[in-house]
Amino acid sequence: MLEIKALTASYDGIHALRGLDLRVGDGDLVALIGPNGAGKTTLMNTISGLIRPDQGEISFDGADIRRVSPHRIARAGLIHVPEGRQILSEMSVAENLDLGILAAGDRRAGPAAAARQRDLVFDLFPILAERRWQIAGSLSGGQQQMLAIGRALMGFPRLLMLDEPSLGLAPMLVSQVFEALGRLNASGLGILVVEQNARRALDLGRYAYVLERGRVVLHGTSEDIARNPTVVESYLGTL
Ligand code: ATP
Repeated sequence: MLEIKALTASYDGIHALRGLDLRVGDGDLVALIGPNGAGKTTLMNTISGLIRPDQGEISFDGADIRRVSPHRIARAGLIHVPEGRQILSEMSVAENLDLGILAAGDRRAGPAAAARQRDLVFDLFPILAERRWQIAGSLSGGQQQMLAIGRALMGFPRLLMLDEPSLGLAPMLVSQVFEALGRLNASGLGILVVEQNARRALDLGRYAYVLERGRVVLHGTSEDIARNPTVVESYLGTL
């Protein structure tokens, strides 16, 4: 589904991605872990078209998306929930969700399908249904994260990319958000998620990639990564 080869990207000559390979198969749930500054956000922004890579390949369903604009990438079904959520805080929950439909572009389904998708979002996150007329800015951080995911779902993603969805959330809300991601994946949605907490990431994903200094230093099934001595020492030992 998503295939990345030898990807490099930089900021004013400073290399952030240095020849990175990664693959997300149809319906996979892949977690990305690594220390601050490893390049996780840069990778997501490069995949979703916000940053132009220097070199390498990015293909989605076999199509080269390296020079495709962000809205077209979303239209193709690759939808990004950025770090910091970026919901429209002056608008209501319902309006934020409705805006998510725009991402689907030509794939936009009719009103009946949109209503079913909204029901799915409300079923995943009942609090959003309860607060649908509330201004999004008045939601708690966890609820805003749910809204950001809900809005992305309204664009009928085929692959959902999430950048640190647990950031700043209370543990119980993190569990709710991760449980929702598990359910979405069980229903066939591909997911690529950046997660700071390695333990949580490895519990959530079927596959994991460890990034350091712009490169993949390890990848494999979550069980294998969780047993890797270096990972245990660097990422799991102190948790
Ligand atoms: P974090 O967990 O802190 O978000 P990350 O793994 O997502 O880290 P990136 O934010 O992708 O890492 O950063 C990768 C490298 O690129 C770092 O060295 C960072 O300092 C640098 N970098 C990131 N954004 C910019 C920017 N806008 N301008 C210049 N350098 C940047």
